[in-house]
Amino acid sequence: MILSKQEKNLGQDREQDKEQEKLPLDNGNDFSTAESDKFYMDIAINQAEQAAKQGEVPVGAVIVYEDPSSQEKQIIAQAYNLRETKHDPCAHAEVIAMQRAAQALGYWRLHECILYVTLEPCIMCAGAIINARVKHIVYGCDDPKAGAVRSIYNILSDERLNHRTSFIAGLEAKRCAKLLKDFFRARRLENKQKSKRQKQNTYQVLKKNSLISIPNDEL
Ligand SMILES: [Zn+2]
Repeated sequence: MILSKQEKNLGQDREQDKEQEKLPLDNGNDFSTAESDKFYMDIAINQAEQAAKQGEVPVGAVIVYEDPSSQEKQIIAQAYNLRETKHDPCAHAEVIAMQRAAQALGYWRLHECILYVTLEPCIMCAGAIINARVKHIVYGCDDPKAGAVRSIYNILSDERLNHRTSFIAGLEAKRCAKLLKDFFRARRLENKQKSKRQKQNTYQVLKKNSLISIPNDEL
């Protein structure tokens, strides 16, 4: 079901949502072999890598607009997580990408859009995906602690809501998960070294002031 972005009337929108409900939902079989999906996921992964370079948790997203008549696809937004940089708890990759996509289209309904994201969306992002009427999403690795597509909640396929978004899970999951694991491992190591340096500095100060006589390695 391809929907026209020009249809701005709310009644039409409701009709569209009903039509959208008839879409078959992907059951989350862990894989997509479509070359184009892999192509766009590679770009999302590249976005996640940019995030890591900036000290942000590496999650990247890409939004592709599919022309309803020609079926031609076009990237209209890319983003990565910017929570630390923007001091914004809502600055997840998917939310920023959807905002940019809506700006690019001049229209907030993303009926003709596919969202690629490296990590299973959280509750906030899954809610935003439903609110934006995104047609379909493809994500990388599951998030067992916060995933709202199939890990903890099933928001995209919840029949009580007024829109469904079909999904494919697990595309390039290992690469996406490795980015996150490497990032958190490096951060733990950095914190450990920082803590060690702080202890040593404290020791040096105490020793200098003759307030301590125990060996450094016992601290
Ligand atoms: Zn999120």
